[in-house]
Amino acid sequence: MLFPFLLAAITFHIDFEGASLGKVEQTSPGHFICPVRGEADQDGRNRQANWYYFRVDGAARGALTIDLTNLVGEYNYTPGSHAVTSNTRPVFSYDNKTWMHFSSNQVEWDKQRIRLRLRFTPDRNRVWIAHVPPYTNQHLDALLKDARPSAHYQYENTGNTVDGRPMPLVTITNPRVPAVGKKVAWLMFRQHSWETGSSWAGDGAIRFLLSEQGAALREQVIWKIFPMADPDGVSRGGVRFNKNGYDLNRNWDPNRGMFQPGLMPEIAAQKKAILAWLDAGHRIDFFLTLHNTESGEYLEGSHAPLGERLEKLLLETTSFHPSRPFRRAEASTTPGKPGRMNVAQGLHAERDIPAFGMEQRVEFNTKLGRLPTVADREEFGRQLVQAIAAALR
Ligand SMILES: [Zn+2]
Repeated sequence: MLFPFLLAAITFHIDFEGASLGKVEQTSPGHFICPVRGEADQDGRNRQANWYYFRVDGAARGALTIDLTNLVGEYNYTPGSHAVTSNTRPVFSYDNKTWMHFSSNQVEWDKQRIRLRLRFTPDRNRVWIAHVPPYTNQHLDALLKDARPSAHYQYENTGNTVDGRPMPLVTITNPRVPAVGKKVAWLMFRQHSWETGSSWAGDGAIRFLLSEQGAALREQVIWKIFPMADPDGVSRGGVRFNKNGYDLNRNWDPNRGMFQPGLMPEIAAQKKAILAWLDAGHRIDFFLTLHNTESGEYLEGSHAPLGERLEKLLLETTSFHPSRPFRRAEASTTPGKPGRMNVAQGLHAERDIPAFGMEQRVEFNTKLGRLPTVADREEFGRQLVQAIAAALR
């Protein structure tokens, strides 16, 4: 008697946008070693290994054990760090759309081997697994397509990535209300490709600004939004560097000759758009770049009264749950290493722009009472633009 279903193997797939995984090894039926590919910078330094996104086919035949390995790298030139820890709860999906976190009893941290083991029995034959819920260029395309019919929306391409993808800049405002008297807020999302929470929040913010409820915010503020700062990295399943290895949130220093437009055309395009806006006589009242970390959550920036005002509003009206209070940003991200300014530091140094950076954790948020979901990120995006508008009033 034949059991053809037994012949089909469990297979791993990364042939889709944003996917990433190293070479998988099977050690026994249902047990797989899955090295995380990771990514290093232009000098082979600062390897970070916290993006994995893959599909398993043939999974619904019993218990599956997946060991995520090769996690150690370095952060800001300090070796030995690993973003994946005992607190990491990856996500899974049966349709590549709706994502659920693995529960604590499905996750096992091996501190000796620095390895995260996932043990579960899938309900379906096909399951997608990722570090955080993916948000790819396809999600962005869908967002921009929905936005296009609005009379309050404008799209421009500020330049091209290393691979020739557009670097979008979106303007949202009510064109019937004169610019005089409006505040100007610039927002930037997804400078680091693994940080999908930034994009989900950006998606929520843009949809809110174009909605019925966003009408007042369009009258009060000109919103200039970079919704996707590293389209190449997002497409190839990168971690935090552009195709040439440059960290797009570390090379904004205008003074040290470190900024090389040809190697980091993404920064060049965004910088040109920002400076052109100022040089045309417009103002910038506020700039924010939104990021994710595993465990830290905070706001920092150049102008303390505005930053403290915004933080107070975020504490009162959103799930923002900082691991440290607002602080003035340092002059550089990496003392002793010339040129290592993030976008907020660089814009403040170059043009005295009130510029801020925010990190949001992907681990358990005690204020939410759960691991942050896609819906939580979208909701935060809606609340964030309302808090910014209120802080600027
Ligand atoms: Zn980041």
